[in-house]
Amino acid sequence: MTTARDGLPAPAFPRVKGRLPPQLMRCPGCGQHLYPTAASCPHCGGKLAVLRRKQLKALAKAESALASLQKLFGE
Ligand SMILES: [Zn+2]
Repeated sequence: MTTARDGLPAPAFPRVKGRLPPQLMRCPGCGQHLYPTAASCPHCGGKLAVLRRKQLKALAKAESALASLQKLFGE
């Protein structure tokens, strides 16, 4: 069993010949790579559910800003 940098055991994924290993995901808080099974980020300590909600809120804010800019420029 391999151990990740945070000291926790790395999750085991079944190895299937010809299939690529599972892709890592990026932490919405700090951008570091995480295992797809992670519930919290070992790098910044943030909970992924909370960070994802913040990211979606920021995206919605940016989209509404874009919509109002497009309105101002008459597009
Ligand atoms: Zn993080």
